Amino acid sequence: MIIFSGGTGTPKLLNGLRRAIPEQDITVVVNTAEDLWVSGNLVTPDIDTVLYLFSDQIDLKKWWGIEGDTFRTHEAMKSLGHSERMMLGDLDRATHIMRSDHLREGHTLSEATMKLSGSMGIKAKILPMSDDPVSTIIVTPGGKMHFQDFWIGRRGEPEVLDVFQEGIDSAAISPAVLLALENDDEVLIGPSNPITSIGPIIGLPGMVDILRKKKVIAVSPIIGTEPVSGPAGKLMHAKGIEVSSAGVASYYGEFLDTFITDAQDTMEADAFEEIGCKVLHTDTMMKSVDVSMELSEMIIREFADMRGL
Ligand code: GDP
Repeated sequence: MIIFSGGTGTPKLLNGLRRAIPEQDITVVVNTAEDLWVSGNLVTPDIDTVLYLFSDQIDLKKWWGIEGDTFRTHEAMKSLGHSERMMLGDLDRATHIMRSDHLREGHTLSEATMKLSGSMGIKAKILPMSDDPVSTIIVTPGGKMHFQDFWIGRRGEPEVLDVFQEGIDSAAISPAVLLALENDDEVLIGPSNPITSIGPIIGLPGMVDILRKKKVIAVSPIIGTEPVSGPAGKLMHAKGIEVSSAGVASYYGEFLDTFITDAQDTMEADAFEEIGCKVLHTDTMMKSVDVSMELSEMIIREFADMRGL
């Protein structure tokens, strides 16, 4: 199974999926449009979260960074007068340094990620969506800014006029992702931010055409009229997409086969009929790994149904 992921909602689901199917059967295609060079090193927040999840290092309270990490380097730099754009843990920074050294030696992000993943003993395939730089840019009344400067630097407060991905038109789907998609027909779009996490992956030239030929299941990141967390609602609104599960489904509509929404969203059945996808309902609020596992089991059954098993 190939899973498209950002850095919070889908990793929560992956935490159940990795207990439901063999880890080596999981391929995660990860958003890289939130990546940023910080203090000389490339931080890839979504890839890092997925790496830390599969290596059992993730801080499960925050869903970013390494459990028990310290911030001494970050604090020391602050006392020297250097304010970093992101708060980076000391152990987390070791990952960024290794990745960036590998890139500086001329390797691609896919190769650097494979090396880190191997060193961490991970059996799942963790693949950056592209080896080319893509950045999510937020347009506010005060000007344009990188997503991280909007979300971390300005706490997501500025009004959002538009969102776009810089570099997307000239970025290529990574060769490893293309190969994975040639060899696997089942694609799961996890409950991640449709604009900043899934949007960049499906926005890569050629991706929608590939997805049209696949069996695609998506899980909604919206429950009722609100995202479970993060700025998805504000950004969907800025893109003119209704902030609801039906809004997400119509955004994915042209390649979506089955959409899974929360049990609370049962009133929307008509909307999904119009979009032309099947809809399933269950508890999608992943407060525990048990909920993630039950949701994973539903997804596995649905893919089996699609194969006629
Ligand atoms: P980011 O890269 O950190 O922005 O993370 P993602 O894009 O992967 O995840 C953010 C999205 O996950 C938000 O839109 C949330 O609504 C959604 N999300 C977070 N936790 C859950 C959950 O338990 N269930 C569901 N259905 N969605 C969730």
